[in-house]
Amino acid sequence: EPAKVLVSACLMGRPVRYNGSAKALSHPLLERLAAEGRLVVVCPELSAGFSVPRPAAEIADGCDGDAVLTGTAKVIEATGGDVTGLYIAGAHAALKLAVENGCRFALLIDGSPSCGSGFIYDGSFGATKHAGSGVTAALLRQHGIEVFADCQIEALEHRLTSAPTPR
Ligand code: SF4
Repeated sequence: EPAKVLVSACLMGRPVRYNGSAKALSHPLLERLAAEGRLVVVCPELSAGFSVPRPAAEIADGCDGDAVLTGTAKVIEATGGDVTGLYIAGAHAALKLAVENGCRFALLIDGSPSCGSGFIYDGSFGATKHAGSGVTAALLRQHGIEVFADCQIEALEHRLTSAPTPR
């Protein structure tokens, strides 16, 4: 069976980001996968119970999603709230959905404390980026799901059309 792809809801045009915006990506691959019923759409933060809009959040102290999952880093809101548990819950909800649907790949919006897979922000709320993964991307990778950032859609397309992946 062709591999399914877990995809960020905001990338599919749903206005679910913290500020109520979307980050729609228009690409023939997405149209084709949608037509073939191979997209599984998720917003980990909404799955965790957050609403729209919500405060911006970042992983604290320049840490990454792996550190959050091991309990050595926190996710904090710009307003000061500790939302670590909710971000972990959202990651597990996304992983469950991916496993239930047999997703071997994910295409996620970069920069998010949940969905980021290439870069995230450092917890200073000063728009300072560093290389690293959000909590959901880290958990998916720990479970063998190949995560691609939105800017890597061409690489995902190539991956999907190359040799089948054993798992
Ligand atoms: Fe988009 Fe992911 Fe943030 Fe939800 S958690 S708004 S899907 S980047």
